[in-house]
Amino acid sequence: MEQNNYQLDLLKAKNAQLTKSEHIYRIVCESSDYGYLYQCLGSDEILAFGSFDKMFGVEVHRTRDFEELLEKFHDEDRKAVLETLTPEEYGREFSTCECRSENGHIWYRIITRIGKSDDVFEGKDKIITFMNITKEKARHSDLLYMAYYDMTTGIYNRNYFVSLLTEFIARADIDKCRISLLMIDIDDFKKINDVQGIIIGDELLQQFGFWLKGKMVKDRIICCHINNDIFCVAIYDATGAYSVENFYNDLKKRLSESFIMSSGQEISITASVGVAEYPDAGGSALDLINCADIVVYNCKKMGKNLLQYFEAPILDDFLKNVDIENKLKEAAFNNNFMMYYQPQYVAKTRRLRGVESLIRWKDDTGKMIPPSVFIPIAEKNGLIDHIGHFVVDESLRQYKKWSEFYNIHFKLSINISALQYKKDDFVDSIMALIDKNGVDPSDVELEITESILIDDFESVTAKLTRLRNYGVSISLDDFGTGYSSLSYLKKFPIDTLKVDKSFIDTVLDDASTRIITESILNMSRAMGFETIAEGVENERQFSYLVGAGCDVIQGFYLGKPLPSEKIDELLSHMK
Ligand code: C2E
Ligand code: CA
Ligand code: CA
Repeated sequence: MEQNNYQLDLLKAKNAQLTKSEHIYRIVCESSDYGYLYQCLGSDEILAFGSFDKMFGVEVHRTRDFEELLEKFHDEDRKAVLETLTPEEYGREFSTCECRSENGHIWYRIITRIGKSDDVFEGKDKIITFMNITKEKARHSDLLYMAYYDMTTGIYNRNYFVSLLTEFIARADIDKCRISLLMIDIDDFKKINDVQGIIIGDELLQQFGFWLKGKMVKDRIICCHINNDIFCVAIYDATGAYSVENFYNDLKKRLSESFIMSSGQEISITASVGVAEYPDAGGSALDLINCADIVVYNCKKMGKNLLQYFEAPILDDFLKNVDIENKLKEAAFNNNFMMYYQPQYVAKTRRLRGVESLIRWKDDTGKMIPPSVFIPIAEKNGLIDHIGHFVVDESLRQYKKWSEFYNIHFKLSINISALQYKKDDFVDSIMALIDKNGVDPSDVELEITESILIDDFESVTAKLTRLRNYGVSISLDDFGTGYSSLSYLKKFPIDTLKVDKSFIDTVLDDASTRIITESILNMSRAMGFETIAEGVENERQFSYLVGAGCDVIQGFYLGKPLPSEKIDELLSHMK
């Protein structure tokens, strides 16, 4: 009796334990995102667990119910699904597939495992797991997209383009043909970004990218977005209808019409195109891209909106610039520059009005490199900040010495690069240097160029006004070569206009230059600007300009740029 009671208790306890563990398994199973089907092989009965019902909304109790389940999958995937659900017919113990829902919107992974039965069931257990992998698939396709396409424009990205171009090159060796690589760089894109904002900038790139996409021809023309405003096109066997000329004509035709933004705004652009050809310009995809890049850079220097082919002299020039750039870094580090000063004279009296300070640099071999060569390089690589600071500080130091020693005041004109001017702390740093050197601000004149004025009007004017209020005067250099008209200049607080040397060069021989020069001088006078003619080289030019009412004359005729000792001689004679 006792024995029976004991066995009953044991049974109850085991039962409770079983109920509990079954409960736990059920909770775990039901809360799973996966759906399960269980079948004991040999029996036709099937049990569903987990999210199976939620996933498919069909009841599967017997193998014949698979028919109804299969309908829930895409018709192209049904065969694979059936093979996965019933692997025993194919002698497999483990089977899996990825498949789509009937409408193709959802992705599933199905895994079927067949294991050895435990004591509970006879034969083998078959467990089929259904997983929703839509998100995983989307992530994968995003990654795949990112690996080949550019996110802004939707055309190929640089990496994929390079690999396709490499394939082109391999094919061209067999076909014995050429490949033309065009690098297209949108002119003044930075201005569009700065003035219109990057949203418009991006939309413009998208529209241009979309146009390029339409130019692609399988196995013949591929296009990519390299970065920012630069695109590349590779044309395999660029002949006949696929010639570079044809492509460029199409491009020009497209750019002759404006791009219309979603805001309705119309934007017109031009582009500079550099062409490098395989095998002449380089033997690899990267070589070709680098060469085309150098050509584009050259196009920009030559005035933009044009197409240029790669030639050896362009590369030589480029390498020379790289050499200069390296030497310039070292020179800037050691402040290895000198300032020269060119006198400016009042036209009517020939009295000294002032000096323009001009930088001079001898490289390590003693060769003089002109500022027109190294200043643009310094502007490009950022050295201009350092060099500009040296120029201002050194000129002021020298001027202070002259002014004290000879007890004299004249104008010290200092050239300011647009990039220097654009710095937020430009005005503060100029004032600090003038204070440090103890120079009277009204003796200082800053020469700026028109390119500064076309920037944000408010901030340009605020800076000019602060400088003017401090006592410094402003002179507009190279007037007549840029964009601004005289009436436009009226808006800015400017004191002096320097008529560009190119006018002076031809003023005596060319009637239309004469008309322009005279009207500049007349209007400037009417508007209250002082005028300086620069690059006056001979007596005839000098007399003409004095007669035409120019206020100040600067040029080799009256004095070349001189080292400070020579200016000392000049000043001591004036005493
Ligand atoms: P710029 O400001 O227009 O300077 C006038 C240039 O014309 C100087 O060339 C000067 O030597 C030259 N020049 C003056 N009179 C005559 C003449 O009668 N005939 C001829 N053929 N040339 C004359 P430079 O010194 O070679 O400077 C070239 C340019 O480099 C300057 O043009 C200026 O834009 C830039 N630059 C020179 N020094 C500096 C500087 O210290 N800072 C900055 N930011 N730029 C500078
Ligand atoms: Ca100047
Ligand atoms: Ca000038």
